[in-house]
Amino acid sequence: MRGAILHAPRDVRVEQREDPKIEQATDVIIRLAATCVCGSDLWPYRGIEPVGGPAPMGHEYAGIVEETGRDVRDIKPGQFVIGSFFASDNTCEICQAGYQTSCLHRQPVGAIGTQAEYARIPLADGTLVATPDVPSDDLVPSLLAASDVLGTGWFGAVAADVQPGKTVAVVGDGAVGLLAVLAANQLGAGRIIAMSRHEPRQKLALEFGATDIVTERGDAGVAAVKELTGGLGAHSVIEAVGTQESMMQAIRSARPGGHVGYVGVAHDVELPGQELFFSHAHLHGGPAPVRRFLPELIDLICARAIDPGRVFDLTLPLDQAAEGYRAMDERRAIKTLLRP
Ligand SMILES: [Zn+2]
Repeated sequence: MRGAILHAPRDVRVEQREDPKIEQATDVIIRLAATCVCGSDLWPYRGIEPVGGPAPMGHEYAGIVEETGRDVRDIKPGQFVIGSFFASDNTCEICQAGYQTSCLHRQPVGAIGTQAEYARIPLADGTLVATPDVPSDDLVPSLLAASDVLGTGWFGAVAADVQPGKTVAVVGDGAVGLLAVLAANQLGAGRIIAMSRHEPRQKLALEFGATDIVTERGDAGVAAVKELTGGLGAHSVIEAVGTQESMMQAIRSARPGGHVGYVGVAHDVELPGQELFFSHAHLHGGPAPVRRFLPELIDLICARAIDPGRVFDLTLPLDQAAEGYRAMDERRAIKTLLRP
């Protein structure tokens, strides 16, 4: 099969890879209908995370089940399925509490690499959710978005305790931040402040339900949110970047007693204890347990109540994955969808 391999920073090639096989009795093999490049793929692509030799890339996936291991009971060949970036059994005590990305038996799908024609998905019955029917092609981008960016934005909103009628601020205008706006809107937020300085992203944020745009960052961004909220700060803040500046911007944009949901993968973030102590902020976040939300998100997408696939503003054949990475790296694209 063909698949994307990262050889060194900024060196992604689509090459011949070995076809995946069933390794454990709980595995399935899927044929990818679509896959995509994640903002987090840019950390190794840019060399900020070390690249230890040729690495298969990709952890977002939606596709058709081709083959099932002998212990797979619920997932059947021919079904269209979506799963998250960690395989999980969905039965252990941590999964049952809704934290499937910390499953006691979790397995990273990134190590398998789904920017490919086929992928082996472990713990299939726990990991995968099937759509009621094979969806029409125009729903595929939105279903793929549920695999990570939508589920992550949604968790950000839930972790930030978004409540009907309340004010939400979103730090970060990548695909996750934009879909956090969509999630906050679905959860009934009264006012949604999107922090973005890029015109096409502002436009999409407004279409997803943002009511206000703040273009300033850092302390100026915090001041702008305070000004929009009578000096108090937002009830809920979603952090979708993962840098020191974005995390502090999020915490300082929350009112005393407010909630910060942080879903940007933290890179060299250090929190000042004394400031946290006096902030009265609730902090909750981490790798989104997307599996918790998948059934609900798939229902909303299949009912055409939400259209998260609009974050894909570039679609390329899998063989042009390198250009997909470049376009995201240079911020020419919000998110690249790859068609195997
Ligand atoms: Zn588990």
